[in-house]
Amino acid sequence: MYDIIIIGAGPAGLTAALYARRAGKRVLLLEGNSYGGQITLSPRVENYPGFAAISGTEFSDALLSQVLALDTETDFKVVTGLSRCEGGYRVLCDDDSELTAKSVIIAAGVHHRPLGVEREEELVGSGISYCAVCDGAFYAGAKVAVVGGGNTALGDALQLAQSSETVYLIHRRSEFRGESGLVEKLREKENVVFITPAVVTALHGEAELEAVTLKNPQTGETQQLSVAGLFVAVGQIPQNGAFAALVECDEAGYILADEAMATSAPGVFVAGDCRQKQVRQLTTAVSDGAIAALSACSYVDTL
Ligand code: NAP
Repeated sequence: MYDIIIIGAGPAGLTAALYARRAGKRVLLLEGNSYGGQITLSPRVENYPGFAAISGTEFSDALLSQVLALDTETDFKVVTGLSRCEGGYRVLCDDDSELTAKSVIIAAGVHHRPLGVEREEELVGSGISYCAVCDGAFYAGAKVAVVGGGNTALGDALQLAQSSETVYLIHRRSEFRGESGLVEKLREKENVVFITPAVVTALHGEAELEAVTLKNPQTGETQQLSVAGLFVAVGQIPQNGAFAALVECDEAGYILADEAMATSAPGVFVAGDCRQKQVRQLTTAVSDGAIAALSACSYVDTL
C-alpha cells in the first residue's frame, strides 16, 4: 500500500509529488496521457512569478525532472474508479489493475469543452481544432477563426495571428472574460478581426471545413464566414467522472474542497483545475498541489 497515490501529472500533481516525496512518503504518481498537463499547450507563460517568460513545456519538463530526481514512482494508467478499502483507498485502472493507498490526491485536470454545433466531431482534424499550439502551423497563411472569450481563446488568437492570414475572434458577448492586456494586444494586430457578439450555428464543407455560419444573438442576423480552421476555446470540463461516486462535486462536476484541499472523503485531497475555485492559473495549480500534499502527509502521519 502506498502512502499517497497522486492522480494526474500536470503542475498540480507534479507539485504534490515534489512535496510528498520531500516529506519522505511512498508516493505513486499516475498519469493517463503525458506529463505536464494543459500548461504544455501554452507556448509562452508570462505570469509565473520569477520568470519573465517561460514556455509551458520548459516549465513542466523542469518540474518533472525535479520530481523524478526524488525517485518518485510513476506509471501511465487511466484511473477509472476510486473506492474505500481496508486502511485506505482502492484505485481502479483501465488495465484492470488495482492499487491501494492510505491517501489519494486527485489532480486530474480538465478537458476541452466542445462547441456543440452539428458536424463538430466529424470535422475534428479537418478544420476543427481544440489546440492552437498543436495545430496552428497547419493553417499558416490561411483564414482561421477562434471561438471563445477567455484567456485560452485570446492566447490562441495571438499565436495564430503570427502565421495565419486573418484571425477572426468570435465571442458570444462583447466583453471578454480573459485579461484586458491580451485583448489590447489583439486589437493592435492588423490581421485580427473581432466579431462580437456572435455564435457559430453551422459548419460548412464536405471533407474539410470551408466556412461557418455566425449569428448575432442580439439582432438574429446571420453571416457566412470563409475559414479553413476553427479553433474552439470555449472552456473546459473537469475530468472527475471516476471520482464522482466518492467525493462531493458541484453541479458542473468540479470537486468541492476546503482550504486544506480536503474533499468530503477523509484522506482524499484534490488539487488544480479539477476542483471548484475562482482562479485557474499555473500559480494556483502549484499552490493547490503543495497544500494537498502537506495535508495528505499530515493525514497519513495520524493513521
Ligand atoms: P474560460 O475562462 O472558462 O472561458 C471560456 C469562454 O468560452 C468564455 O468566454 C465563455 O463565454 C465562452 N463559452 C463557453 N461556452 C460557450 C459556448 N457554448 N459557445 C460559445 N462560447 C462559449 O476558459 P479558458 O479560456 O479555457 O480558461 C480556463 C482557465 O484557465 C481560466 O481561469 C483562465 O484564466 C486559465 N488560463 C490561464 C492561462 C495562463 O495562466 N497563462 C492561459 C489560458 C487559460 P462567456 O464569457 O460569455 O461565459
